Amino acid sequence: MTCQTAPWRAVVLTLFPEMFPGPLGHSLAGRALERGDWVLDAVNIRDFATDRHATVDDNPFGGGAGMVMRADVLDRALESVADPRGPVIYLSPRGAPLSQDRVKSLAAGEAVTLLCGRYEGVDHRLIEARGLEEVSLGDFVLSGGETAALALLDACVRLLPGVLGAPESLAEESFERGLLEYPHYTRPAEWRGRRVPDVLLSGNHAAIAAWRLAQAEAITKTRRPDLWSAYLGAAASVS
Ligand code: SAH
Repeated sequence: MTCQTAPWRAVVLTLFPEMFPGPLGHSLAGRALERGDWVLDAVNIRDFATDRHATVDDNPFGGGAGMVMRADVLDRALESVADPRGPVIYLSPRGAPLSQDRVKSLAAGEAVTLLCGRYEGVDHRLIEARGLEEVSLGDFVLSGGETAALALLDACVRLLPGVLGAPESLAEESFERGLLEYPHYTRPAEWRGRRVPDVLLSGNHAAIAAWRLAQAEAITKTRRPDLWSAYLGAAASVS
């Protein structure tokens, strides 16, 4: 790459900065981090508490179990560290489910700031006042936003230029054409009495491509009727 632009930057606000880079310090993402293809700043929310006990949470108004992270503390943290070049995302089970399209647009941007909740979550006024984008990893509840942030960053970083060893593998991936991916096989050609489909050994590239598309369609149709109808809709609109 000849043009020198600033590396893609992730800022993570968390009560557990030692969880970062964690798994992202290994393998592809870790090597990219070492090379400086992306940078990661994990910021301790507790540094922005002002009282003697470094309090970051308090009891919920209206009562109920659990603690709520304070808007004033989080706001100070965001004010001083959020990267203005990119969106500020609060990882939250109430957010829009993370999609490959959103991952792509984040990776194509310059920066992202991620706020990781703990306990019952954050004071709602912070979300409103800062217009935070809420993003969910799925319909289940994690104990904190950190693992969600790691997953989101993993998905983004592998799309950054130069990170993946074989970028052409991105083109055929699940969700890329609105379909789940076809099955993969490698040596040995026969294992426990199961043979690899003959077409894959045929060397006939057109037949292999047709077989893979048919498999991708079949698996999407049975596993993900929602993706399947969207795929049929998209196909109908281009023809
Ligand atoms: N009381 C909340 C759950 C809080 S879980 C509720 O019922 O909606 C504590 C933190 O974990 C949240 O603030 C959020 O940052 C993170 N978290 C939990 N589940 C998540 C999910 N599915 N996606 C993204 N973040 C999640």
